[in-house]
Amino acid sequence: MEDVLIIGAGIFGLTLARKFREAGRRVLVAEAHAVGAGASATPLGVLAPHAPDNWNAKKEAQFRALTSLPDYLKALEDETGMAVGYERCGRLIPLTTENQRAAWDRRIADARENWHGEAVLSPINGMDRDWIAPDVAPFGAMLCGLSAKIDARSYLLALAASLGDSIRTGMMMERLEEGMAIFSSGERVAARRIVIATGADAFAHLPPTDRDEPAGRGEKGQAAILETVAPVDGNPILYHDGTYIVPRGGRQVAVGATSERYFECPTTTDALLDDKIARAATLCPALGGARIVERWASVRPRAANRALRVGPHPSLAGVSVATGGFKTGLAMAHTLDPEHLT
Ligand SMILES: Cc1cc2nc3c(=O)[nH]c(=O)nc-3n(C[C@H](O)[C@H](O)[C@H](O)COP(=O)(O)OP(=O)(O)OC[C@H]3O[C@@H](n4cnc5c(N)ncnc54)[C@H](O)[C@@H]3O)c2cc1C
Repeated sequence: MEDVLIIGAGIFGLTLARKFREAGRRVLVAEAHAVGAGASATPLGVLAPHAPDNWNAKKEAQFRALTSLPDYLKALEDETGMAVGYERCGRLIPLTTENQRAAWDRRIADARENWHGEAVLSPINGMDRDWIAPDVAPFGAMLCGLSAKIDARSYLLALAASLGDSIRTGMMMERLEEGMAIFSSGERVAARRIVIATGADAFAHLPPTDRDEPAGRGEKGQAAILETVAPVDGNPILYHDGTYIVPRGGRQVAVGATSERYFECPTTTDALLDDKIARAATLCPALGGARIVERWASVRPRAANRALRVGPHPSLAGVSVATGGFKTGLAMAHTLDPEHLT
C-alpha cells in the first residue's frame, strides 16, 4: 500500500507530491496522459498580482505567494539542475481614459503600502512604440513591478525530475472508494491518503454545493506561441482588456487567452484564438508578420466560489482534493500545505 496516491500530474499534483516526499512519505503520482497534459502547461506563464487597492486576505495570500516563489524555484533549480525560466519582468497596463489613469495613479500609494517595498507601480509615459501601439495607450501606461513570468512547461518538468520514479503515466482514474482508486485498466491502487489533483476533472468527483450547484466547472482557454520577425526579449508582459502578450525568450511570444464557459472539445483551437491573435497584433506592433508556432487549448479548474478547493473530500474518508487554481495556479501551487488536505 502507498502512503500517498496523488491523481494528476499538473502543477497541483506534482507540487503536493514533492511536499509529501520531503516529509518522508512514499508517494505515487498516477497520471492519465503525461506530465503537463492539462492546464498547467500554459504557454503564458503569467504570475500577476491583484490590483493593490481594497486590500483583503485573498490579495495578501497571493502577494505572499508571489514573493515567496523565487526562493522556492531557486531551490528546485539547484536540486534538479533544470532552469524554470522565472523572471520578474513586470507587466505593462495601457491606460485608455483619463479616469483609468487617475484610478491607477491612486493605486501607486496602495502598492507602496501593501507590497511592503517588494515592488512598485510606476507610470510610464515615453513608451516603446513597437511594443505598445500608441493609440492603445493615449493616457500612458502603468508598469506593475510585481508581475513575473515562468516557463510553465519547464517548471513541470523540473518538479517531475525531483520526483524520480514516483510518477506513472497512462493511469486514468475512473472512480474512488474509501482508501482505493480504480483505474480504467481495472487496476486498483490502495493508499492511506488519496489526493484528487485532476484539475477541472476533479469537480466530477465532488458532491454539489449547499445551493445544489456543481462544486466547480471547467473553463476553456486557448493560447498561442508566435515567432516574431525581430527579437522581443527584454520587454515586459503587455496586458490589455483580457489579452496577454508574454515574451518567452528570443523571438518567441505567447498570446492569450480566451475564456469559454461553453465548449465542445477541451483541446481544439478555433476562430476565437485567431481573433485573440489578431487583437494582440493591434496592441503590439512587434507582432506584425509573426509566424504561429503553436496553438494550444486546455480547461482551467474554477471552483464555485472561485477560491482554491483544497481539503478533505466531503464523504470519502482518506480522500482529499486539491484543485481550483483557475487563472493563478502557477503562482499559488507552492503555497499548498499537505496539512490542509485532512
Ligand atoms: C489558456 C490558459 C492559460 C492559463 N494561463 C495561466 C497563467 O498565465 N498563469 C497561471 O498561474 N495560470 C494560468 N492558467 C491556469 C492554470 O493553468 C491552472 O490554474 C492550473 O494549471 C491548474 O493546475 P492543476 O494541477 O489543478 O490542473 P491540470 O494542470 O489540468 O492538471 C490535471 C492533471 O490531471 C490529469 N487527469 C485529469 N483527469 C484524470 C484522471 N481521471 N485520472 C488521472 N489523471 C487525470 C490531467 O491529464 C492533468 O495532467 C491558465 C489556464 C489556461 C487554460
